[in-house]
Amino acid sequence: MKTRTLSVVVSSVFLAALLQAQQPPEWTQPQKPVRIFGNTYYVGTRGLSAVLITSPTGTVLIDGAMPESASDIANNITSLGVKLSDVKLIVNSHAHLDHAGGIAELQRRTGATVAALPWSADVLKSGKKDRKDPQFETSMPPAAAVANVKTIRDGEVLRAGDVSITAHRTGGHTPGGTSWTWRSCEDKRCVDFVYADSVTPVSADSFRFTDNKTYPEAIDDFKKSHAFLRAASCDILITPHPEVSNLWGRIEKRDAGERDALIDRTQCASLAERGEAQLQSRLEKERGK
Ligand SMILES: [Zn+2]
Repeated sequence: MKTRTLSVVVSSVFLAALLQAQQPPEWTQPQKPVRIFGNTYYVGTRGLSAVLITSPTGTVLIDGAMPESASDIANNITSLGVKLSDVKLIVNSHAHLDHAGGIAELQRRTGATVAALPWSADVLKSGKKDRKDPQFETSMPPAAAVANVKTIRDGEVLRAGDVSITAHRTGGHTPGGTSWTWRSCEDKRCVDFVYADSVTPVSADSFRFTDNKTYPEAIDDFKKSHAFLRAASCDILITPHPEVSNLWGRIEKRDAGERDALIDRTQCASLAERGEAQLQSRLEKERGK
């Protein structure tokens, strides 16, 4: 019994060390909050996005980065003058540790409702990984279980005070991947935001997207996600990994005086294009071409 306990301890220490080695340091590097446009702010870390959409009557938070970043995100929110109790709704791109890890703690601190599409809601509630997840067999630990999760449907509009955001199922990377859209205004000018979930066909070595038994709709889901990105009204794109949409480069330009550097209506289509190419090369590799 003792040996067994010891080996479990040793292997979990090893796992943690392994993960540490794989994990880019920017993922947990604190980052000052940045106003993106109007009532939309970036409150995540340097390498993992979290987005705050505020209104005097209620605020929405998208994504929670790694578990150890929950405090940094909470501090970013309060440093903007938003009370944690003003955050009424927390939503997620996809239920992997790097985007959902902080959600359980952020829900405890804010008292917000967490809402997710069915597959993601189940994963968030359970605090366990699911077999349908292409990364089920990787060493990545599951995100901490979230106490209260409301299940929503594709296309549903969620409201918190004066903020409304729409859920778009964009699966493939996970079966419950969700992109979020909303509109923010500044000096009578309004822009359409897309927080687009990851479209990368990343998986455990043992997982195949072709002829898949646990997640047979994966390829179809990717295609629907690409179609969503091509059709979306997309003035400003933000992605769960900020570098994927060159967020820091665009913010730098904007802060250097190029007022509209964050606005680029070609970004969503170009993300779709990259996603299609990645999927294509992954499928060719699996088919041995
Ligand atoms: Zn992921």
